[in-house]
Amino acid sequence: MTSDARSAELFERAQLVIPGGVNSPVRAFRAVGGTPRFIAAAKGAHLTDADGNDLVDLVCSWGPMILGHAHPEVIAAVTDAAARGTSYGAPTRAEVELAEAIVERTPVEQVRLVSSGTEATMTVLRLARAATGRDLVVKFAGCYHGHVDALLASAGSGVATLGDAEALASPSSPGVPATTTAQTIVLPYNDRTAVTAAFAEHGDQIACLVTEAAPGNMGVIVPGTEDGEHFNAFLARTCREHGALFVSDEVMTGFRVTRSGQHGLDGVVPDLVTFGKVMGGGFPAAAFGGRAELMQLLSPVGSVYQAGTLSGNPVASAAGSTTLRLLDDEVYRTLDASADVLRTAVAESFAAAGLPHVVQSAGSMFSVFFTPDDVTEVPDYATAQRQDTAAHAAFFHAMLDAGVYLPPSAYEAWFLSTAHDDEALSRIVETLPAAARAAAAVASAERH
Ligand SMILES: *Cc1c(COP(=O)(O)O)cnc(C)c1O
Repeated sequence: MTSDARSAELFERAQLVIPGGVNSPVRAFRAVGGTPRFIAAAKGAHLTDADGNDLVDLVCSWGPMILGHAHPEVIAAVTDAAARGTSYGAPTRAEVELAEAIVERTPVEQVRLVSSGTEATMTVLRLARAATGRDLVVKFAGCYHGHVDALLASAGSGVATLGDAEALASPSSPGVPATTTAQTIVLPYNDRTAVTAAFAEHGDQIACLVTEAAPGNMGVIVPGTEDGEHFNAFLARTCREHGALFVSDEVMTGFRVTRSGQHGLDGVVPDLVTFGKVMGGGFPAAAFGGRAELMQLLSPVGSVYQAGTLSGNPVASAAGSTTLRLLDDEVYRTLDASADVLRTAVAESFAAAGLPHVVQSAGSMFSVFFTPDDVTEVPDYATAQRQDTAAHAAFFHAMLDAGVYLPPSAYEAWFLSTAHDDEALSRIVETLPAAARAAAAVASAERH
């Protein structure tokens, strides 16, 4: 049992001045109970919390820290950039280099840099609506695209974790006007019949369909293949047939599952793509991009307005460029191999503990579903919601007590980095059997 006295003290203070004591909801441990760990420092695959506990990190800042924490070359680039000033409100070489790196690795011709994934998806909707002269947007239940009003209809991630998700197409949060989500059509993921029917009915009013390139915010869901056609290829084709734009949200998958992202696995070329997380190297940086003809609709060339005081920030751009430069083929081989080790170990310990589960992956991104015995595959949000969250909470705390920091939610991917070496992986693998037994005890107590 590790001590959390100092974290508890900070959490008390935090709750007085910050709602719930956190600046992003899932950090608050609401879904698993207990005191969130306040982090004092991090290096490689390890976090050090305020009480001095060493934790092997499987959150990696929810994706960005793909090279591990405080990577020496990233820190050097950031330090060097910061010493030359932290923001100018005028263009810099650093942002040109980051934009070039993104364009070189992905199917987009031009990008605009912003500060968060939310900003990227928000602007992409505006751009798609302007380009098509249409208002409707299609999304999938359980896909999270940031806290954009129009996309907070049946959203995943923190919304799923906190159990606030409501009926399809009604707002997932108070404060989102029903008139806004009334422009959003929400469909079950992997359901081609539903997509075809929605486009048959509303096709001439749909501006775009936006999807996570491979969903990771309701746990990891595999985009299915039917008659040799990948789900994303089907979506792109359906959009094209109806004059709508296909928007791929690669904020989580981009530069993580391959050197480009999910595009590297399915080869589908979307009209517009959003990026974030990895490309910021741990700083607030994100982007959206697409064909030049669409991107030229943006101010100052076109009339679609978009702006940002800190967009393309020189320190964030230096962190992002350096991270992308270091992400070579060897990195992806390492991540794939580490993910394999963990997936296998999870499946073995859960099976040995008699704990029903499903492990799913999209490239090196994977997650574990605490689903009942009759579930062998999780294709959509409705199935993901059949998870035993009490068993997950028991598992989470057993792992944490043994020094492994997992996402405090049953609806999130586990994130690895190149800093997860044999020592870090062994520590995780060794803690799995006892944690699986702790979860199985809760699951079986619920059944009886
Ligand atoms: C994290 C995430 C976002 C939101 O990005 P923020 O930087 O947190 O605003 C959007 N889409 C996907 C797929 C994400 O995983």
